[in-house]
Amino acid sequence: MTIQLNDSTLLKTQAYIDGQWVDGDKGETFAVTNPATGEHLADVASVGADETRRAIIAAEKAMVSWKALPAKTRSELLERWYSLIIDNQEDLAVLMTAEQGKPLFESRGEVAYGASFIKWFAEEGKRVYGDIIPSTADRRGVVVKQPVGVVAAITPWNFPNAMIARKVAPALAVGCAMVLKPAAETPLSALALVELANRAGLPAGLFSVLPGINAQAIGGEMTSNTIVKKVTFTGSTPVGKLLMKQCADTVKRTSMELGGNAPVIIFDDADLDAAVAGVLVAKYRNSGQTCICANRILVQEGIYDAFIEKFAAAVKGFRVGNGMDADSTHGPVITEKAATEIHAKVQSAVAEGATVVIGGQAGSQGACFYEPTILTNVTDKMRVFREEIFGPVAPVFKFSTEEQAIAMANDTQFGLAAYLYTENMGRVWRVSEGIDYGMVGVNETAISSEVIPFGGMKESGQGREGSKYGLDDYLETKYICIGGLNR
Ligand code: ADP
Repeated sequence: MTIQLNDSTLLKTQAYIDGQWVDGDKGETFAVTNPATGEHLADVASVGADETRRAIIAAEKAMVSWKALPAKTRSELLERWYSLIIDNQEDLAVLMTAEQGKPLFESRGEVAYGASFIKWFAEEGKRVYGDIIPSTADRRGVVVKQPVGVVAAITPWNFPNAMIARKVAPALAVGCAMVLKPAAETPLSALALVELANRAGLPAGLFSVLPGINAQAIGGEMTSNTIVKKVTFTGSTPVGKLLMKQCADTVKRTSMELGGNAPVIIFDDADLDAAVAGVLVAKYRNSGQTCICANRILVQEGIYDAFIEKFAAAVKGFRVGNGMDADSTHGPVITEKAATEIHAKVQSAVAEGATVVIGGQAGSQGACFYEPTILTNVTDKMRVFREEIFGPVAPVFKFSTEEQAIAMANDTQFGLAAYLYTENMGRVWRVSEGIDYGMVGVNETAISSEVIPFGGMKESGQGREGSKYGLDDYLETKYICIGGLNR
């Protein structure tokens, strides 16, 4: 076996449908490979529209008794699932690093982060309150919150555990059932997660996991099937737009966590060391493959040179390598194609006048590696300003005034996360309120946790995950008019 686990039964390669581990109807499989080594890890069952339909029908059936349970009983299952995830944290982390590439310490962190959503929503699901609205003497308006129905979820490869956990936890907590298609690059983390849910006592049909190489077939069934009442998606903006269009025919609700183009605005009055430390994490975590990664670093002219010097010195200290090696600080990117696309953006910037301060080429460690890179002399006309880079490349732009920084930050169709570094309290408020982003980190880039509402504005999506607001995405608001009170 190529992946060494304490509990080898967590390595699952079949689909999980209606409480059973099954092959795809046609017996098709797809290969999962380790991006750090190119090693073949597993062949996983590939399902299509028919299996997806069966999972959706099973979900509808399972939901009948699930939603009727007291919230406390649903919560207890989620708590057991949480404990099993924590107990198996190391195995889940090893699986993740093997299929996704991130360093083991990041994988361990993600498993804990994902589990925190399960615990949070186990607790929060008990607090789904309604309202009583006084209207006239003979009537009252009662507002109740009810589970939205069967939910279909589609998730990406960059956080193979947490992007699932923060969708399935609120859905199950409020009484919904879910069918999930994980990314084809990283199905093993998803399958191990549902195996642990199964061990926690998950009722058959309530949460099916549908790995598959034919995303259109699975997504097509999810978005057209009238049983499905809601689609929740994390991934690229083009695919999100496509899914929204597909959902329009049956007027499904959607939650979309899409691309970002995060600015980090560093003002002359910033704590320079804190800003450098913040950008290092915001830019290079997961080798730059997070939707809230710093994409554009905007530095005020007075500290620009000092910032570049300290930033480059810190990046030189990175140890890029196989995420399984304890001394690797940064791993590969997900595929060779991704590395090629990242290089194309760098080359296009250089052709238009950008300067490579450090990096700028494919890494020597393997086909999926790209050197941590810093670019200067970059402009707002370049692809590295306009597009999400999704790789370890930091373009550093220069600005003069606060107004200019706000305009540059907003000059994008995206609006997920933004960050600013300043010691001026007035500026903190002016800029935070002046930029069009769903999340703003002030003197901090590690902004995400289960207790905060994660989500974007503009073409970065709609809906929020985590926090008390994260429940709303899985609830319908029903108004009941109680009349005749004078009789
Ligand atoms: P990325 O470029 O990061 O892989 P994608 O948006 O392509 O982002 O993928 C995110 C998820 O969406 C993955 O699970 C992928 O398989 C799925 N996906 C991609 N295209 C489609 C589609 N046409 N219909 C349904 N799901 C899709």
